[in-house]
Amino acid sequence: MVSVFDHGLLYGDGCFEGIRAYNGRIFKLRSHLERMYESADRLRLTPAYPIDVIDAAVREAMQVNELSDAYIRLVFTRGVGTLGLNPFQCPKAGTVIIADTIALYPEELYETGLAVIVANRPRIPIPCLDPAVKSLNYLNNILAKVEAIDAGVLEAIMLNMDGEVAECTGDNLFIVNTGADGTVTVSTPPTDAGILHGITRQFVIDAVGPGCDCVVEERTLLMDDVLAADEIFLTGTAAEVIGVVKIDEASLGDGTVGPVTRRLTAKFRELVGQNAPED
Ligand code: PMP
Repeated sequence: MVSVFDHGLLYGDGCFEGIRAYNGRIFKLRSHLERMYESADRLRLTPAYPIDVIDAAVREAMQVNELSDAYIRLVFTRGVGTLGLNPFQCPKAGTVIIADTIALYPEELYETGLAVIVANRPRIPIPCLDPAVKSLNYLNNILAKVEAIDAGVLEAIMLNMDGEVAECTGDNLFIVNTGADGTVTVSTPPTDAGILHGITRQFVIDAVGPGCDCVVEERTLLMDDVLAADEIFLTGTAAEVIGVVKIDEASLGDGTVGPVTRRLTAKFRELVGQNAPED
């Protein structure tokens, strides 16, 4: 039962994680749990259970639902309080673990690529509500997603208040450029652009990119950099690694998913498929 007095419901007061399991292994579970407890800390929300108890409970939720490929949603709500805003009137945080399956995008989109728009709505600035906190308050993203849906596409690129590229509504963004000497550089906005510090993003920086002989860098990106790039792809727990082939009215390159993105998508699937790291 969820109480109508839970501040998670009344105010979006809480935080969450989306986590995937491949072949019975929970991909980057520790990193997700650490980000969850960091989000809670920054909201001054005291989780009801310590991290190791939640770690065990997530594994148990997988088991009792007999899932080996799964999408797990972990939610901490502020808990049951009064109708007022004061979060400290809620004595005990709520804990929810949903064990389900997911296919965010149809498989053919990994072949044909995604069309996106650039949202008019900027990403919420760090001083207002740091996008690094994965809070239950997702209206900034939802309203940008509505812009995408109105335009007939599935994702939207969000800029920060300085007009720099931040991220998408539920994914991080990368561009690919191949130099004259054949060096492939993969670039993504730095965390101070005001983004969620994506766990898939970090895995691409640390493992997938280097595993495909790419130089990986974090640097400020403007839309001009994105539109001039050889390839663009998005990363996220649900989306994994997916190519972008159209932004607003502009088709990119020849309008198909580029060779580097294809290699990165395949490398990602190879690395998580057999023995996904749980750290
Ligand atoms: N940005 C936002 C706004 C997100 O909600 C998400 C997660 N869906 C991501 C980026 C990707 O993060 P991760 O790789 O940790 O799933």
